[in-house]
Amino acid sequence: MKKTTLLIFILSAILFFIPNNQPAYSWGFFAHKKINRMAVFTLPSEIIGFYKKHIEYITEHAVDPDSRRNVSADEAPRHYIDIDHYGTYPFDSVPRWWKKAVAKYSEDTLKSYGIVPWHIEKMVYRLTEAFKAENLDLILHYSADLGHYIGDSHVPLHTTENYNGQLTNQKGIHGFWESRIPELKSQGYDYWIGAAKYIDKPIDAAWNAIKESHAAVDSVLKFEALLNSKYSPDKKYSFENRGATLMKVYSVEYTTDYDNMIKGMVERRMRAAIITVGSLWYTAWVNAGKPNLNRLDDKEISDSLKQADKANEDLWKNGQISNSKGHND
Ligand SMILES: [Zn+2]
Repeated sequence: MKKTTLLIFILSAILFFIPNNQPAYSWGFFAHKKINRMAVFTLPSEIIGFYKKHIEYITEHAVDPDSRRNVSADEAPRHYIDIDHYGTYPFDSVPRWWKKAVAKYSEDTLKSYGIVPWHIEKMVYRLTEAFKAENLDLILHYSADLGHYIGDSHVPLHTTENYNGQLTNQKGIHGFWESRIPELKSQGYDYWIGAAKYIDKPIDAAWNAIKESHAAVDSVLKFEALLNSKYSPDKKYSFENRGATLMKVYSVEYTTDYDNMIKGMVERRMRAAIITVGSLWYTAWVNAGKPNLNRLDDKEISDSLKQADKANEDLWKNGQISNSKGHND
């Protein structure tokens, strides 16, 4: 083998494994941030001013929960639910309410297979309490977090044990669907969804999101398998520079063909996430007794929240090893 051929071979072998080493967490940075940001524009006049004032915070911190997965074993199950673990008709079997679900399956089992719908409800409750206390730090913190978990609940592959196609020889599809497609295609998405609505039972909204996401799992996998059968690996993947790193990625052609096959599914799920985020922020504020947020006008984010955020940022930068289980490669 010639030296250059050998070099290319070794380089390709190394690069080939890069996508599989990426953790399969949730919507990529871009989509999470976009969902939180656009949710602000669904809000009614009483609260849109407050959220607009803090839109950069809400946007930038849309991905904080993913960084916490690196340090807390409790964090991972909050981002998904392997609903197919619970049988062929899981939505009839799994109790909607946390306490009933714990009684039926035990808390350990629930945590083993993910708890995102219940965690969304918990976050709505905490945000409500933050509004009641008129605590700026906590309102921003829980708003950003809630947006993240709602976003995750709208991703089909966050509702199945086959979350990264690992059971069907489609490893990598998680990041393909939720990161690569938005990265390449979302510039053309329509993010104007209408006005946030009050939601009587947040837990129902969370379960509806899971139900709709899960209904799409078959298509997500089936169409990718079909497309894969028509592509040779050298056309399916390409290499792109990411900073100083050359990454193996799904090619633009492959991504475009797949996006066409699933007929705007990623856009639809993003839009549904955005309106649900806006609606649950609004619901928390209403349930708190509609506090006048003008009273928070002269308040600034506290030093302690800034410090906590800084620590969170460092987690990303230092790339700490994940010790959390669930939906990781
Ligand atoms: Zn997540």
